Amino acid sequence: MPDKVVTRFAPSPTGFLHIGGARTALFNWLYAKHTSGIMLLRIEDTDRERSTDAATAAILDGLSWLGLTWDGEPVSQFERAPRHREVAEELVRMGKAYYSYETPAELEAMREAARAKGLPPRYNGQWRDRAPSEAPAGVKGAIRIKAPTEGETVVHDRVQGEVRFPNKDLDDFIILRSDGNPTYMHAVVVDDHDMGVTHIIRGDDHLTNAARQTVIYHAMGWDVPSMSHIPLIHGADGAKLSKRHGALGVEAYRAMGYLPEALLNYLARLGWSHGDDEIMSIKDMISWFDIGDVNKGAARFDFAKLEALNGVHMRRMSDAELFEIFIATLPYLEGGPAMAARLDDRNKAQLLAALPGLKERAKTLVELVDGAAFLFATRPLPIDDKAALLLNDDARKILRGAHEALSAVSGDWTAAAAESAIRDYAQAGGHKLGAVAQPLRAALTGKSTSPGVFDVLAVLGREESLARISDQID
Ligand code: GLU
Repeated sequence: MPDKVVTRFAPSPTGFLHIGGARTALFNWLYAKHTSGIMLLRIEDTDRERSTDAATAAILDGLSWLGLTWDGEPVSQFERAPRHREVAEELVRMGKAYYSYETPAELEAMREAARAKGLPPRYNGQWRDRAPSEAPAGVKGAIRIKAPTEGETVVHDRVQGEVRFPNKDLDDFIILRSDGNPTYMHAVVVDDHDMGVTHIIRGDDHLTNAARQTVIYHAMGWDVPSMSHIPLIHGADGAKLSKRHGALGVEAYRAMGYLPEALLNYLARLGWSHGDDEIMSIKDMISWFDIGDVNKGAARFDFAKLEALNGVHMRRMSDAELFEIFIATLPYLEGGPAMAARLDDRNKAQLLAALPGLKERAKTLVELVDGAAFLFATRPLPIDDKAALLLNDDARKILRGAHEALSAVSGDWTAAAAESAIRDYAQAGGHKLGAVAQPLRAALTGKSTSPGVFDVLAVLGREESLARISDQID
């Protein structure tokens, strides 16, 4: 490989970092990491009306949460407008671009006339070969590129293959508006060139732009970067991704309790595969990813798969690591802020101790909040409907006996000690173990499901356990 790979992620700050944008960033990042290259970040804030600082902040926050790091400072496209102007003017001097002077009304009339003849509404090139001396006095013109009129412009795309655009379909499009501002098409080319971008990886909605951008590269005599236009993400039903399908900002995925690694694993697998591997760590993705292996077909977003994958990543993670992510994410999770406000050393230790049991039953961090709620509950515990059914009169009788048996535990209060006390009591009373364990669980957690009941007893400790049971029998 001759040169260092330089990729870039170039979001427009007009909204959150949505899931499609996150996947584009991921592919750029993976390719850069895979090739020991770098990924740059360019904020395409040229459209002043639609760009906001809040959106830029949300995009940076989303990328950071996902761990998709960029090299150097983010570049503001808007701030580079003087350079875009300079290149446009240079193209005029080189005879590769020219000033045109139509008013909006004249342009509209031109399009109308073309349509009336059944032709595509394109600029007719009427200023292309006119002498600058013919320019109307006092009117600032717009700069248009002289697009080739014959032959084809070919985009050599590593995902789409060779895509050919007949030049007769490309008109002399504007690169600098009459107010001196660059068009998006032009700004992207100048920025990618100046930033030394070697590989452009972006959504395939930019494929026709690639042809127009190629015209600018050729006019300047610049090398065209390697292009990869990746298919967009569709909903599970094949339709364009909408909010209902999961076209949400990545912060919504954080709030739903997905792990960054699981979300990245899921996004990487949307349109790319490595053999039959479904579960991948970030390290795996970096070592396996190649842009040439991305499929051409649209990928489908499926919440159920993401959720299942998230559960696998949670269980695969060490307790210490999961604990750390859980605590850091707590303020963003549904039901999390209240728990975060009550975190202290004691319940943190309980949480860590309960995590092996809790993570077996949770597919998201939100489910973990739910599962861990019993640790943070204050007496008397709220009992949910299903748990209430387990606490009928017979069950309360059994609980009374269980309370006695547990009170008699001498020595260390451990899961094993609690288990042997309960087993002995069940056997002596002729109860099935479940007939004791179920009401016990309901009394201790307020729920009908929880980690193993003996673990729950151990984690809660002697005093709290006995008090919670008493609350349900008196
Ligand atoms: N700013 C464009 C977008 O957000 C990306 C342009 C590009 O990657 O060339 O869709």
